[in-house]
Amino acid sequence: MRVFDFALIGAGPTGYAALTAMRGFSGSLVVITGATPESGLGSSAKFASVAFERQRPASFAEPVVVSGKAPKIFSAAEVGGLANYWGKQLQVYEEGDPWGQGQFLETWKDYRAACDAVQSDLEVIGGSERQHLDGGLATSVPRLLVGTSTAPGTNLEAMAHAVERRFEEMGDLEVRSERVQRIEEERDCLRLELGGGTQIRARHVFLAAGVLGTASLLARSLPRVTETGFRDHVPYTLKCFGLRRAFGPPSSYYIHGDFNALALKRIQGGRCSLYASVYAVSQAPVSLLTAAFGLGPRMRGRRVGPAIDLIQPVRIWTPETLVQNRHLHQQSRIEANPAPDPRRDQELQLLHKWLSAQGVRSLHGSTAPGQGFHYHNLTVGEDQQPVDEVVEPAFSGRLRVINASCLPQIGCPPHTLTAMAQAFARVRHDLARAKELKPSG
Ligand SMILES: Cc1cc2nc3c(=O)[nH]c(=O)nc-3n(C[C@H](O)[C@H](O)[C@H](O)COP(=O)(O)OP(=O)(O)OC[C@H]3O[C@@H](n4cnc5c(N)ncnc54)[C@H](O)[C@@H]3O)c2cc1C
Repeated sequence: MRVFDFALIGAGPTGYAALTAMRGFSGSLVVITGATPESGLGSSAKFASVAFERQRPASFAEPVVVSGKAPKIFSAAEVGGLANYWGKQLQVYEEGDPWGQGQFLETWKDYRAACDAVQSDLEVIGGSERQHLDGGLATSVPRLLVGTSTAPGTNLEAMAHAVERRFEEMGDLEVRSERVQRIEEERDCLRLELGGGTQIRARHVFLAAGVLGTASLLARSLPRVTETGFRDHVPYTLKCFGLRRAFGPPSSYYIHGDFNALALKRIQGGRCSLYASVYAVSQAPVSLLTAAFGLGPRMRGRRVGPAIDLIQPVRIWTPETLVQNRHLHQQSRIEANPAPDPRRDQELQLLHKWLSAQGVRSLHGSTAPGQGFHYHNLTVGEDQQPVDEVVEPAFSGRLRVINASCLPQIGCPPHTLTAMAQAFARVRHDLARAKELKPSG
């Protein structure tokens, strides 16, 4: 019976960060990617459009019903994870933002170093400041992941490429395209039960299965986990008319072929209190628009074209757009707290005021619960016990959660790079500890 030194569950961005921290590691590793053939199509227009453009089905598993009329949400089921569908924005948090300070990343310098380490083989463009505006607002070129050093320009395929490249570099590695159903403790190791009944044993396990995947796996493994909580942003969406009066014509700032055209931030005291993505619909695939209008994805490979940029969507994240969700595992249902009241959100109102002073008109819209995809802060039970505190005694310190589940707070900008930095630091810490404990000779 083989016992691996380490097992890694998940092959999305935080799985990639773990593999990056393990470069040069000489022990044995098994990666269970969660990629499954039986997974179905996710519910959003974005997922349908991406799947259509790449001519492969979208891969998701474990659908969960969300309260109200919100669409179901899913756990990723492929190498690359949700980053195969994402907005590509890799944001470095400011010093005053909640960047995950704690035992594994003690200073902002450590955080920045971890961000640099996980990005070292990624092709990232943008990030430079464009314009300082009134009221602390500033625009910048969005910071986007567009490829890797060995596969430049691969865009939405970049994260999957990056993970596959790490697989090629590892020495004693086994990769399993299955999902872990349950984790059980044995005398000197953990036993992972895979879908087909296969069992894998490892002395240490890193859990990078996304927040929803982590919650479901813990609920299947530990009888006491019947209810979990997690937080997410539900950003506002403004449909803006005449936005060129504020920022100039979209053609003066969009990056050809990228829907994310401009980042707008308010930074006060080293903390980002408002983050907004300005979109150029002209740069979106036609299939995204046809899917959003309920016609299904159509016209592969075609972009929308400049006439459409008369109306520009702007998505806005503030500290008020964070909401708490409650996942009831036996009923496979998520109850979301009510969305924030936009009239009470000072940051939003300040932005409205600024936009109308520039002559921009806007229509307000919101995001359905669960569709913000900034999941973090996984807790267990009604008393919201942090996930780290639950898994440490339950698996005798052999299981480490390394995705955004273990970030108690996130800021307004997209948080995945911050989660990757945390994953990198946790894995590096545990590798060093395992080395210390290994008997010499
Ligand atoms: C439409 C959209 C746009 C987004 N835009 C951005 C953005 O611009 N910037 C940003 O920072 N973030 C963005 N996000 C969020 C970002 O994609 C996630 O934060 C990120 O992918 C999370 O990484 P992860 O590795 O923790 O988990 P995931 O990406 O969810 O990957 C989980 C991995 O675990 C595997 N897995 C799951 N369950 C199991 C199991 N039981 N057994 C084995 N393996 C399992 C899956 O197959 C997958 O490989 C976006 C998300 C979406 C959906």
